[in-house]
Amino acid sequence: MNLTQNTTKIYFDVASIRKDFPILSRTVNGRPLVYFDNAATTQKPQVVIDAITKYYTHQNSNIHRGVHYLSQVATQAYEDSREKIRAFINAEKNHEVIFTKGTTDGINLVANGFGRKFIGAGDEIVISELEHHSNIVPWQMLCEEKGAVLRVAPINEVGEIVMEELLKLLSPRTKLVAISHVSNALGSVNPIKEIIKKAHDLNIPVLIDGAQAIQHTKVDVQDLDCDFYVFSGHKLFASTGVGILYGKEEFLNKMNPYQGGGDMIKTVTFEKTTYNELPHKFEAGTPHIEGGITLGTAIDYVNSIGLENISAYEQELLEYATEKLSQLEGIRFIGTAKEKASVISFLIDGVHPYDLGVILDKMGIAIRTGHHCTQPLMQKFNIPGTARASFAFYNTKEEVDVFIASVIKAAAMLK
Ligand code: PMP
Repeated sequence: MNLTQNTTKIYFDVASIRKDFPILSRTVNGRPLVYFDNAATTQKPQVVIDAITKYYTHQNSNIHRGVHYLSQVATQAYEDSREKIRAFINAEKNHEVIFTKGTTDGINLVANGFGRKFIGAGDEIVISELEHHSNIVPWQMLCEEKGAVLRVAPINEVGEIVMEELLKLLSPRTKLVAISHVSNALGSVNPIKEIIKKAHDLNIPVLIDGAQAIQHTKVDVQDLDCDFYVFSGHKLFASTGVGILYGKEEFLNKMNPYQGGGDMIKTVTFEKTTYNELPHKFEAGTPHIEGGITLGTAIDYVNSIGLENISAYEQELLEYATEKLSQLEGIRFIGTAKEKASVISFLIDGVHPYDLGVILDKMGIAIRTGHHCTQPLMQKFNIPGTARASFAFYNTKEEVDVFIASVIKAAAMLK
């Protein structure tokens, strides 16, 4: 067996894991695919692909409404999946798990359902400089509508939130703190537990954008004590168009629904509508049923490998790639926080990241180039964008070697 190990640890059999992901054995531009764009979206294991086929072959029906057999089968599978997700993030209650379209949708739900009700003129929302546009723009829109103020906690030169500065921004005017768990552009892991604690000391609720954390590390929403936690299924080896908003029951109950329509109502007359209970109050319309069900399958798959093993292995890949890349002439890393997830953003002197991305693609290597939906962060570093390699547990050191040899070749062509 080809076990992946360092001197002390055996995490899992990466060769056999790779066989679980059919796309990894394809070629791109005549070369074996090296997929290092996992922060944008992850590949899907065969069990998830099979579950999608199984749903449409044997289970397809609309949920929550039908008395017939298939509707009950689909409803049961959907609700079973909600329970798996609850357990995965250790939410206390099943109805605190709301199906959404993804991270962006979850943040917009909170901006509309919580923000429009509880945030008013002169109130403040605190975010940080390293947020994704999804965790900036919905708050800006809310501030514009309500006359509220967006306050931005700075980061230091290595890409860590400056805690003293963030704490200075918290005041009785602060009505929400919205911070990412892990930065998609830099990989920095933010000290969210500490931020949540400090905000709670002042009775300020906290939303965590977990889009880049949920696939790398164990998330326990009760231990974190966050009020909201959002993530996307597609970054967790499941479908696009499905995601999760975890919210504490006390907040979800107080909030207004985000969208009106079927499923989210208890009674409707032309004079007045009463809303359904959680979680349905926030799940208007026919949802992404297959996506919801197969997100549960993806979670079963991740659990079968173990997030501790995934984290440890990815950290090893990160260190290996960082060490090797740092030997390249003219390389500059953007984001060197002490705590990092498996994301490496970099620039090479005299090489435009876009050109590098195009040439690497010709060599079968998928990386991301550009501003990574973090334009203010790029402005902070005074750069137009970066080249970003992001790893999942199915990537290997051999792929890192191919990547680095290709970067050297591409850079030589471009300089
Ligand atoms: N926040 C972060 C930190 C992200 O990385 C992303 C996706 N790149 C998002 C939010 C938005 O996620 P989605 O596009 O799946 O809604």
